[in-house]
Amino acid sequence: MHIEVLPLSQPRQPQQDESKLVFGKSFTNRMFTLRFDRGQGWHTPRIEPYGPFSLDPAALVLHYAQEIFEGLKAFRRSDGSIALFRPRDNFARFNRSAERMCMPQLDIDFCMTALRQLLELEKEWVPHSHGTSLYIRPTMIATEPVLGVKPADQYLFYIILSPVAAYYKGGVNPVRIWVSDDYVRVAPGGTGEAKTGGNYASSLYASALAAQKGYDQVLWLDGVQRKYIEEVGSMNICFVYDGKVVTSPLTGSILDGITRRSVLALVRDMGYAVEERALSIDEVLDGAENGRLQEAFGTGTAAVVSPVGELTYRDRTVRLGQGQAGKLTMELYDRLTGIQYGRLPDLHNWIELL
Ligand SMILES: *Cc1c(COP(=O)(O)O)cnc(C)c1O
Repeated sequence: MHIEVLPLSQPRQPQQDESKLVFGKSFTNRMFTLRFDRGQGWHTPRIEPYGPFSLDPAALVLHYAQEIFEGLKAFRRSDGSIALFRPRDNFARFNRSAERMCMPQLDIDFCMTALRQLLELEKEWVPHSHGTSLYIRPTMIATEPVLGVKPADQYLFYIILSPVAAYYKGGVNPVRIWVSDDYVRVAPGGTGEAKTGGNYASSLYASALAAQKGYDQVLWLDGVQRKYIEEVGSMNICFVYDGKVVTSPLTGSILDGITRRSVLALVRDMGYAVEERALSIDEVLDGAENGRLQEAFGTGTAAVVSPVGELTYRDRTVRLGQGQAGKLTMELYDRLTGIQYGRLPDLHNWIELL
């Protein structure tokens, strides 16, 4: 499929003061769009000026939330080259989310071609300062205008780009976590493994309660027994327990994070034993108190790793690492960002240069 490039009438310039970039608030000049009609398949690939869509008020996405998305980053390196981190893994996961939400599959090679062509045109928007990046948001929405509950016959796939500041400006600060007891993110058999908008809408209430109480993030327990650790905010979570790295297994209710996968590969390289197993909240709190739990950190594309400094469950609060990020947490942050920005060798072939 040939990608048509539409002209820009009023190009904007990237923000000069890169420290002022706010996550997801500003976007580049152009976006990629692709349409799907049942019977015809994907058609009309375009790179066009960034701007609002015209959408029928009955579009299925607006009523029944048939929507999926991805999040990945492009990094500018000191030699001026631009690197993508495991982008094919994101598009593969996008297709798995699509299947779960009854949406059409995309050809991963075509997505890569489209993304590369878009980035080539927008490369001046990949910021230069230390720790900055260009966040990439592929999205698919159901556009067919009909109020019946069913998989849509029409979709729009698009990719938008947003320059983002360094996630950690004043050092990597541990976060305070509130363990949600009354609310769950998903239940077994639900859509927890799909990156679909509804999962985030349903998480807002507990997040708002946690914020009201002064916490940074919510830790989600399993939807049945409300006992086993699942995720934290929209990150996966890892623990250093008895010197081993322990994380929740991929049982279908948590997201199969690419940062999670990368962190597990790196800790295996470093000689750590990895356990993907159910870990109860009691085991975590007891471990924090008796010293068997040394570190806890969230993993995700935005933050890379996010150290946990404090956990509150019901009326019990425990602290980890005396306000400091853990040693392994920081080592993983340095290794993963080192690979992304080209300071360290890419031994796993995770990097695709533009
Ligand atoms: C995106 C996401 C993650 C992290 O995935 P990465 O691929 O590492 O960015 C974890 N949990 C949820 C719920 C997510 O949406």
